[in-house]
Amino acid sequence: MRSSRLLIAAAVLVAGMLAACGGPRKLQGPFEVWERTVITMSDSVMYVSVVSDFEDSLLLRAHCRDLSDEELRSDLFEMLSRKMLATVRSPQQGGVGIAAPQVGLRRRVVAVQRTDLPGEPFVVYPNIRIDKYLGDTVRGREGCLSIPGRRGIVPRSEGVVISWTDPQTLQRVSEEVHGFTAVIFQHEVDHLDGVLYTDRAESVFADPEWEAERAPYAEQGAYDKPRWLRGPGY
Ligand code: ZN
Repeated sequence: MRSSRLLIAAAVLVAGMLAACGGPRKLQGPFEVWERTVITMSDSVMYVSVVSDFEDSLLLRAHCRDLSDEELRSDLFEMLSRKMLATVRSPQQGGVGIAAPQVGLRRRVVAVQRTDLPGEPFVVYPNIRIDKYLGDTVRGREGCLSIPGRRGIVPRSEGVVISWTDPQTLQRVSEEVHGFTAVIFQHEVDHLDGVLYTDRAESVFADPEWEAERAPYAEQGAYDKPRWLRGPGY
């Protein structure tokens, strides 16, 4: 079904170009035209933006905006959540958290592995904010899927109070989180304000082990940027 997929790609690309030229960016329903393209056209494991790509680097520095109730109730949000979870959990990424700008969207959504809960599940948090930083400053090693092969020593707060919109009830929910999970939340929420861990790191260094882990997947093209993603709205 490759050819029909290409036709769909061409159609959505034209729609995106029209939008970028001053046409209606939001034709009908939730999300902008280009956002719908990213959500629907991406494979189940999405392309992850990297700082070494110029367009990606601009996206990674963008400020993200909230999702509306209509967007949270939509099938597109459900699809985005599913794909973000599949991406962060994929063997080629092997992350503990991911933020929407890393998969091409300037929206306040993150997926975080709750290493503090039984079974260590990955959970999606829309419209997330950190309301309070708690406890002492702790220093730990961090890496980022968008800065592959490097790690840094980063000072973070030991705990945080987070709040987000429950996508089922559309009510705001808040929770106090501590330890490594709190560090993941701080890293991911930073992404939504265009902040990378390297901005806060006391040192950044190469991680040859991570490079070696990525090599076989890179050979298979697992990190190649899809051509359709080089569009006007990206
Ligand atoms: Zn990151």
